[in-house]
Amino acid sequence: MSTFLQRKAATYLYRLCADIPAPWPAGAVQGGRRVGSDGNHVATDLFAAAVSSFGFDTQSPPFDCVDWSNDGADLTVSGTPFEAFPSPYSLGCDVHAPLVVISTLAELETADLSGRIVMLRGEIATEQLMPKNFPFYNPAHHRRIIYLLETKQPQAIVAATSRDLQGVGGVYPFPLFEDGDFNIPSVYMTEEEGNRLAEHSTATAAVLRGQEISLHSRAHRIPATGCNVIARKGCGKHPAQGSDPRRRVVLFAHIDARIGSPGANDNASGVVALLLLAELLADYSGRLGIEIVAMNGEDYFSNPGEQQWIALNAGRFDEIVLGINLDDIGYRKGSVAYSLYDCPADMANLIRRQFSAHRGLVEGELWYQGDHGLFLINQRPALAITSELLAELMADITHTPKDRLEIVDPAKLVTVALALRDLLLHLAQKYSLA
Ligand SMILES: [Zn+2]
Repeated sequence: MSTFLQRKAATYLYRLCADIPAPWPAGAVQGGRRVGSDGNHVATDLFAAAVSSFGFDTQSPPFDCVDWSNDGADLTVSGTPFEAFPSPYSLGCDVHAPLVVISTLAELETADLSGRIVMLRGEIATEQLMPKNFPFYNPAHHRRIIYLLETKQPQAIVAATSRDLQGVGGVYPFPLFEDGDFNIPSVYMTEEEGNRLAEHSTATAAVLRGQEISLHSRAHRIPATGCNVIARKGCGKHPAQGSDPRRRVVLFAHIDARIGSPGANDNASGVVALLLLAELLADYSGRLGIEIVAMNGEDYFSNPGEQQWIALNAGRFDEIVLGINLDDIGYRKGSVAYSLYDCPADMANLIRRQFSAHRGLVEGELWYQGDHGLFLINQRPALAITSELLAELMADITHTPKDRLEIVDPAKLVTVALALRDLLLHLAQKYSLA
């Protein structure tokens, strides 16, 4: 059984990562499942077809989104080129203007940016700014920066960044903006390139009188659609079809990948484990509902799939006995780690007892940057499954072209699917209504 499932896991992984339409940008040599892209549609179609074939009642509710393409940027001062990259989901531009350099929020508060290109670097550019319409978490100083920029209307923004140590450290330089709702064109570059460019700012205009920056960014937003895939078994209706009082366990794996990354571990790994689980539950007929969701948007600026799923479940969260989220579960190094959030004691005991029977599955640290947050903000107990070495992944691999098939061990996905099957069968005995 295990060998059969491992072979299936490897095939699914290949189809979700390597066998998907040519990616953008060219640096990502395998696949691309960014929300709304062709590869994203291939992935959701594959998921829907597979879970339906295992007897799940399956829907793929659509949402609108924007896809994005770019053909680089040219930034020059008097013919001297500087290396810059269009910020993902930014508008393009073709502008010529003096440069103003801003390093702190205080400087931004008082600066006059009209008719200028503004460079953000240093303290103000140490972490990626949350997208302006991001619904779940958005610190006040991020919102203030966005507000000031939108009020002061510079011609364009150049962000000089290093590593985002609060976020994903492997992306260098990182885009300060990744926001399809923010309409000031922006590019980003390394700190070093930023230092070189800053010598041409208006502060040194006496030396470089009359010099303007030319910035041509060839980036385009493309109207697109995407969908979640919601598959149910053991319970009647979809949320969209009206109330269903029966209890259910909900399992998420986000099916989208970060722009520019093949997303093998993040999160084809979790998606494949759900596909294996769906097959293991092909004969399931318990009274406890099981809902499997290919969530489309965890790595996209506005989380469209998450917002849609929340809306479909409004007023019905009490039905959810347990929410389970699989993200980054297949890293070939280390064990698979699970963590529990707000689980009642008897449920926590049951989970620990079931999982301790599966080798390679250990209880790990709590983490909150995943879709299990959707259960927590709605006061439902949650179980998250990820790689034990998540910190190592985040520092070097996650969201980069390095997140390739080669770093994922299909056997780990089989372990997770078998452990979840056992857990769900026990939960069905314990929690289904008579
Ligand atoms: Zn992820």
